[in-house]
Amino acid sequence: MNWGWTSIAIILCCLFLICIPTYAAQQSFQPSELRRPKFNSASERFEVQREQMVQYQLRDRGIEDQRVLAAMSKIPRHQFVDSSWRDLAYSDRPLPIGNGQTISQPYIVAYMSEAAEISPGDRVLEIGTGCGYQTAVLGELAEAVYSIEVIPQLAQNARQLLSELDYQNIEVKTGDGYQGWREHAPYNAIIVTAAPKHIPQALIEQLAIDGKMVIPVGRWNQKIAILTKTKESVVIENTIPVRFVPMVAKSPRQ
Ligand code: SAH
Repeated sequence: MNWGWTSIAIILCCLFLICIPTYAAQQSFQPSELRRPKFNSASERFEVQREQMVQYQLRDRGIEDQRVLAAMSKIPRHQFVDSSWRDLAYSDRPLPIGNGQTISQPYIVAYMSEAAEISPGDRVLEIGTGCGYQTAVLGELAEAVYSIEVIPQLAQNARQLLSELDYQNIEVKTGDGYQGWREHAPYNAIIVTAAPKHIPQALIEQLAIDGKMVIPVGRWNQKIAILTKTKESVVIENTIPVRFVPMVAKSPRQ
């Protein structure tokens, strides 16, 4: 036996056994930055996230209204949230917008917009402008949108952003949503994005015949109510459970 050749063979075997796993590990390891798809700009990244939101959170969960889907594919939701939350703007959750309030989860915005059955010539009232995202969706769907926000700072921020985005068919005012906005009534649709304990009577009065109101109702066990007003009656259907911020009462009777 030639011990010289045997030792060389053993050394080569050892080297082989050490090097192959190391090489394989190097091939499979990539810093997470390298595995992510490359985007040329932040707006391109947000566009991809927006399309994924529409597909997986909306279409796949049963939202079918093409106008609602088109509106939510178009509106830059990330511009409506604070810059520190921007990376989560298209995620499946509500986000803080300041003053203890939140922007609703994308699915809920789509669900309420679809349930309101808005046509292009409609006049719509929104209670609870917040950051103005739902307002922008309504601005895409209707002819005119009137939105009321009780917190002056939020109303001012939303007004400014909606004007920067060139929504000329939207008016935002600071005020108490329990009273509605009589001046522009009747409305073909009313969407309320804060939860009262009971549906405010003034809002029922300001809804047009054949109009729809979509409103979260309740304190701890809230449900979205869809109210349809006909000549003879008001029909209320209680639908999905939700968690909205409470609609603050300005009037002691509400
Ligand atoms: N649609 C909003 C959701 C905001 S949260 C968005 O997408 O950002 C609900 C909003 O309703 C809050 O901004 C809150 O200040 C407002 N709100 C609560 N009670 C109200 C009332 N009585 N009248 C008008 N707005 C009210």
